[in-house]
Amino acid sequence: MQVLNAASATTQHYLDLEDKYGAHNYHPLPVVLNRGEGVFLYDVDGKRYYDFLSGYSAVNQGHCHPKIIAALIEQAQQLTLTSRAFHSNLLGEYEKYITGYFGYDKVLPMNTGVEAVETALKLSRKWGYKVKSIAENAAKIIVCQGNFHGRTTGVISFSSDPDATKEFGPYMPGYVAIPYNDTAALEKEMQDKNVVAFLFEPIQGEAGVLVPDDGYYKKVRTLCDEYNVLMVADEIQTGLARTGTMLACDHENVQPDILILGKALSGGVLPVSAVLCNNEIMMTIKPGEHGSTYGGNPLACKVAIAALQILKDEQLTENAAAMGNLLRTELRNLNSPFIETVRGRGLLNAIVIKHANKEAAWQLCLNLKDKGLLAKPTHGDKIRFAPPLVITKEQILECVQIIKGALEEL
Ligand code: PLP
Repeated sequence: MQVLNAASATTQHYLDLEDKYGAHNYHPLPVVLNRGEGVFLYDVDGKRYYDFLSGYSAVNQGHCHPKIIAALIEQAQQLTLTSRAFHSNLLGEYEKYITGYFGYDKVLPMNTGVEAVETALKLSRKWGYKVKSIAENAAKIIVCQGNFHGRTTGVISFSSDPDATKEFGPYMPGYVAIPYNDTAALEKEMQDKNVVAFLFEPIQGEAGVLVPDDGYYKKVRTLCDEYNVLMVADEIQTGLARTGTMLACDHENVQPDILILGKALSGGVLPVSAVLCNNEIMMTIKPGEHGSTYGGNPLACKVAIAALQILKDEQLTENAAAMGNLLRTELRNLNSPFIETVRGRGLLNAIVIKHANKEAAWQLCLNLKDKGLLAKPTHGDKIRFAPPLVITKEQILECVQIIKGALEEL
């Protein structure tokens, strides 16, 4: 293993500031960034890096996409927030645009991903009581082991990650976890008439890019229909062209009952999330029962329209599919003894590291950083490779050479 290059004095200054004044709730790579453009990030010493994380898939359109930034600036000079106490000229326009884009009757706008997940859970319960007519407070929601849906006390209540849960209890009842990619277990739990929804990630991102078997989404759809249970897809990480189709569920032409979006809905510019569903579900919620000060603000509406339009105009689904195939093929062709697995779909990929040293994945990321590529391990031995979707073939090939060099130094 190589010895880590010492951080520059400038870098060290910023690392020390964060260390002293910020909560230690993250363990970032020791790199300090101050500029982004397309697939590239630049550090405070002016060094350029390929971004292979894309803000956990928020920056699908590339850093500081000129059209998104133009929309942001134009709207910021006009009107940024009305709250939902009043109407704005952009909310309805955005609602029409996004519902047409994804084929749902209605949208409920929120800000962060986890807020959209909470919204979907509340909608599911409300629907359970109002439409499915189950007894109040009896609603159950099925989730998957290994899930990641965010960090609120409600959402961590059904996490299976001890880091997310330990000493944060007591936990909210009403959830049951089944193994991921297991439709037999799903059907078994659905026997309970109080089940209102099945919440799942079409690919488990944080768990290390776990892609379910072909036919999983179709089978989930069939079971949900059969047992009158809502199919709730958290596409916060998998959606918006990331996996080579607009939504990951599009791989099997399946439409969830409730669709949750976030991250790239603003191209990495603002926290913008959304929940989409049809009237039968959305209209169960009445004024005063749910909301958010910033949800649906004019700035977010304008930015989200620009971010969504770019995905189509620049054919980013097609590029993600093609570049993802190329990346996986080239990584497999490296035949590195340290890569146990290469997996993924489109440009949501991960490698699993095989090495005697438990810290090898972290060390590989440090090696990659030194060579000009930023990636971060998840759950110890897995490294996600998820560059912005605007990456080109030449850039993918250059990145594979960087990865090859970094592996050779392990
Ligand atoms: N759901 C999924 C699938 C995610 O990947 C994430 C974030 O990584 C979230 C929800 C939470 O989103 P946020 O961090 O914006 O609250």
